[in-house]
Amino acid sequence: MRKHNFCAGPAALPTKVLQRAQADLLDYKGKGLGVMEMSHRGDDFIEIATESQASLRRLLKIPANYKLLFLQGGASLQFSAIALNLAYKEAGNYLVTGVWSDKAYKEALRLGSAKLLATSKASNFTEIVPQEQIDEKATGAYLHYTSNETIGGLAFDYVPKSNLPLICDMSSDILSKPIKIEDYALIYAGAQKNIGPAGLTLVIIREDLLEVEPNPNLPIVMNYKTQAESSSMYNTPATYSWYLAALVFDWLENDIGGLAAMHKLNQAKAQKLYDFIDASDFYSNNIAKANRSIMNVPFVLRDSSLNEVFLAESEAADLLYLKGHRSVGGMRASIYNAVEITGVDALLNFMQDFSHKHQ
Ligand SMILES: *Cc1c(COP(=O)(O)O)cnc(C)c1O
Repeated sequence: MRKHNFCAGPAALPTKVLQRAQADLLDYKGKGLGVMEMSHRGDDFIEIATESQASLRRLLKIPANYKLLFLQGGASLQFSAIALNLAYKEAGNYLVTGVWSDKAYKEALRLGSAKLLATSKASNFTEIVPQEQIDEKATGAYLHYTSNETIGGLAFDYVPKSNLPLICDMSSDILSKPIKIEDYALIYAGAQKNIGPAGLTLVIIREDLLEVEPNPNLPIVMNYKTQAESSSMYNTPATYSWYLAALVFDWLENDIGGLAAMHKLNQAKAQKLYDFIDASDFYSNNIAKANRSIMNVPFVLRDSSLNEVFLAESEAADLLYLKGHRSVGGMRASIYNAVEITGVDALLNFMQDFSHKHQ
């Protein structure tokens, strides 16, 4: 009944999570009402919020001196929030490696406080910025980068080093592999790729950043300190998305077996797809091998006049959302955590048949 979903976001969710949510929808734990309908300040929701945070802390091994914030507004609101909270006195430094990091940079610039530290634009964003191009002695409020460029399909294969607090947009690769939280001062992610449904934004922030003097025009719901002090409940949080994220964390811990196991599965999926593309003269991917994303796999057909046929036939074969982003063209298969290897196999079979038919 469920088709293979390669959507870049909002993306596929684990079937098991949806089944649990379905069972809870009308009546959560025999309480006679659903999670969507209960107070965020009641015992039942507070329990969901508390347990979700404990689960996420275990998954990512988050030390006690980091706060977890469950906010709204998407990753895009964080582009503004970071600049307004943290770059009032000093400018933030940005690495630009594709569409999303460029948007983050431009928004901070618009708000008056950003420096472009390095960019891989000259490569047409087919590779990331190497460490050698990062001025490790740069001054400013922070160093911002995007670990996985969702649209271009490229990812950092290292954690940038500098003297500055490191900020990372992990919207499209958070929870795809283990990371070392201590490398970062702030991590943020819109939920709709690897965490849960749209409407929720996760921020993991080191406590010392809460003491930075913010721009006086900072809207209060965007104020990190205010949200941290009120456990993300200064105003009503996205309760249902938060609840679903809690189910996803639980699935990662107890069904998958943690992030190292998740990483292995993700690597296997991506490897299969790239190996096939590289061996083919019908499909190609031009991202530098070391920088290829394991979450978003863009590829083009040798003969782009077949694009529309490819999309129509793949959809008829129950393979959804393979169209590449309009700024890049071609195709893109997003293979986030919830996309199973059977989905990748089905895609590869289709791609093989299609290439034979149109050779
Ligand atoms: C999807 C995405 C965004 C934008 O997220 P919104 O929640 O739509 O604001 C930002 N950065 C990256 C890396 C993304 O993948």
